[in-house]
Amino acid sequence: MEMNRRGFLGLGKGLVAATATAGAMTTIAAEPQQPRRKRTFVGACPPSSREYGGRRPGPTRVMVIGAHPDDADIVCGCTAVKLIERGFSVRFVSITDGRMGHHKLTPDETARTRRAETLEAARRFGLDGYDIYGYPDCGLYPTDEARRLVARKIREYEPDFVFTHRTCDYHADHRATGQLVMDAGYLLGVPHWCDEVKAQRLRPVILYMSDRFTYPRSLRPDVMIDAEPYFDKWCEGLDAQVSQFYEWLPWDRGREDEVVALGDRSDISKRNEFLRKYTAGRKRRDAERFADAWREQYPGRPVPNYIEAYEVSEYGRAPTEADFKLLLGE
Ligand SMILES: [Zn+2]
Repeated sequence: MEMNRRGFLGLGKGLVAATATAGAMTTIAAEPQQPRRKRTFVGACPPSSREYGGRRPGPTRVMVIGAHPDDADIVCGCTAVKLIERGFSVRFVSITDGRMGHHKLTPDETARTRRAETLEAARRFGLDGYDIYGYPDCGLYPTDEARRLVARKIREYEPDFVFTHRTCDYHADHRATGQLVMDAGYLLGVPHWCDEVKAQRLRPVILYMSDRFTYPRSLRPDVMIDAEPYFDKWCEGLDAQVSQFYEWLPWDRGREDEVVALGDRSDISKRNEFLRKYTAGRKRRDAERFADAWREQYPGRPVPNYIEAYEVSEYGRAPTEADFKLLLGE
């Protein structure tokens, strides 16, 4: 698949919207949505084929780069479970230390607690690792230093696929994280930049995780997975982050009473029902809003009740049909 320079630069049809993130400018072309089967994917990063060479041997690797130490778990936990079951190596990353994610613990206590909880989550999910880079929660900017750190970590792990936030998601740290990954995308292959870690000949495909934002446009569901078969394992992973799913998030949403009603969580089916109720809403909404795209992509297959959806970023390598087959297992 050829890199389409006009497409990448956003000079084709459609409106170009610009959003500023801490001084950095991001453009997202607000073009009409097209289902995957009819799209030509473009990408900033040559080479376009994973058969080109330069790929390290071993299992397919996925790196999920979120802003906080629960973003990866919440948004693409079911995908991670599915890929791990298929033999992929999956690594979760949080760029910030999550220190603002509690209403009672001090920020230092919260950061310490969350670090320990993510280690347990990694064990339960079967991850290759859960890294916390330690930038201050609610204070992340797409700086040169942060970009170099992100790039070094991607180069060291050499993932085939990187998942991250869009630059129009609700939290400033999410937007900065998406910006950092996008900015690193092309530079991953530039040998003299950040040369303490070897540049990648085969850069990863970058995919955006789902969010609810509609400006400048809604997420385009290029990749969709039926999340429901992986719910029990997903809930087991979420359950490791006690400070988040049973303390901070219920408090933030005014639902502390329901945690009290849940009791000691020893009834696994009741516990899973609680976790699903408060964390699977976005997957249900995505199943509703992407139902037509699902029918188009998987003719004859019923639309699932819960979907995890991803959009291909033009800042990574343009995926080939082989990449989609690898990722979707089809
Ligand atoms: Zn977050």
